[in-house]
Amino acid sequence: MARLVILGGGESGVGTAILGLKKGYGIFVSDKGEIKEKYKKVLEHYGIDWEEKAHTEAKILNADVVMKSPGIPDTVPLVLLLKEKGIPVISEIEFAARFTDARIIGITGSNGKTTTTMLTNHILKEGGLSVGMAGNIGDSFAKMVAEKEYGNYVLEISSFQLDGIVDFKPHVAIITNITPDHLDRYDYKFENYVASKFRITENQESDDYLIYDADDEVIVNWLAKHPVKSILMPFSIEKEMGQGAFLKNGEIVLKINNETIKMKESTLALEGKHNVKNTMASSLAAKLVGIRKQTIRECVANFQGAEHRLEKVLKIQHVQYINDSKATNVNATYFALDSMSAPTVWIVGGVDKGNNYKELMPLVREKVKAIICLGSDNSKIVDAFGNVVDLLVETYAMEEAVKVAYKIAERGDTVLLSPACASFDLFKNYEDRGNQFKEAIKNL
Ligand code: ADP
Repeated sequence: MARLVILGGGESGVGTAILGLKKGYGIFVSDKGEIKEKYKKVLEHYGIDWEEKAHTEAKILNADVVMKSPGIPDTVPLVLLLKEKGIPVISEIEFAARFTDARIIGITGSNGKTTTTMLTNHILKEGGLSVGMAGNIGDSFAKMVAEKEYGNYVLEISSFQLDGIVDFKPHVAIITNITPDHLDRYDYKFENYVASKFRITENQESDDYLIYDADDEVIVNWLAKHPVKSILMPFSIEKEMGQGAFLKNGEIVLKINNETIKMKESTLALEGKHNVKNTMASSLAAKLVGIRKQTIRECVANFQGAEHRLEKVLKIQHVQYINDSKATNVNATYFALDSMSAPTVWIVGGVDKGNNYKELMPLVREKVKAIICLGSDNSKIVDAFGNVVDLLVETYAMEEAVKVAYKIAERGDTVLLSPACASFDLFKNYEDRGNQFKEAIKNL
């Protein structure tokens, strides 16, 4: 019996364990931290051998193959040792893909993955296809493959998952954009992170597709130096494309082979230029797998957006409150500010990930009337914007931030939570931050 060792007992680890068991592997799950109760229950239910708060090397080093959870860096001593011994260390998507012949639509990028994944899933479902949505979103891919066979999988894929692939190949790959993120895992070299994202194309063949943002210089420059085998489907909001998607006279134009589809920008459910891009990416993918144009048009108009991403919460006394808690980096916040059409009271701050606020400066000057800092340390934000806006207030709890925003905002304004920072100084995670924001608004 082949031995599969799984490092990390979270969503992807437990999913892999279930799939591995079904496929006849002997399994051992090892987590150096604590395994969540709900996952322990699943492991017990299947009678899978596991440990927590330890990595027992004797039980790990005799593996035939190791699945490493995306949260574990490649540089931890155990992983280095496994590699030294020639034991393959792969990611969950690599393992799961070995057991399905379904068509895979794989979505990666720095921002917009979840939105694009959800919208693509929505269109394919409405188009009548059998489709499972998995990856960084909801259930793990491995668990889905173990439990039910779909004809298509729409997968949200992080760079960490791509770091552990060997043969994984999506029929349609989407790279939404690439901006610096997670550099701590890539030797602080941006090119390593870019290379990791592009691994989504490395096993693609000439009848596969790569959908990408042609306005993103990082992507375009990389492609110029590293040609791919797949068919290129670029999208742009700046220029016309011979093949792919672009904006013209207020319409999204999709051009695939000899077919042209037009959709009015004003009918899109998701607002903001970044969402025009996400809509283009999803629509191209849907068309490439054979969805009818009428279905695509309807779906991009009736899609219910994802929570915590430019989510409209409430309007109180003609002030719109918007929750963009998922904006954990400057680029995401850039697009949020860019899509604001009213004077904005901007709630920003948290754990700084080496942010450079310079690129936000023109937008802040144009749109932001007041800044409310929300972090345990707001000094960088105060330094960057203290002289730029008329009013800057420091707060250290969500309820306080929302109360201050309420006082400042006037009829017709927008209050936007788009932190551009991680959340773990004051909150459990970005969901907790967004939920506290919504709760505080409801309590006003
Ligand atoms: P991801 O899953 O890649 O983190 P999300 O869809 O969850 O992406 O969006 C994360 C944040 O980035 C949100 O604040 C959202 O408004 C913003 N965003 C969404 N799409 C894009 C895009 N194409 N470019 C830049 N920012 C985006």
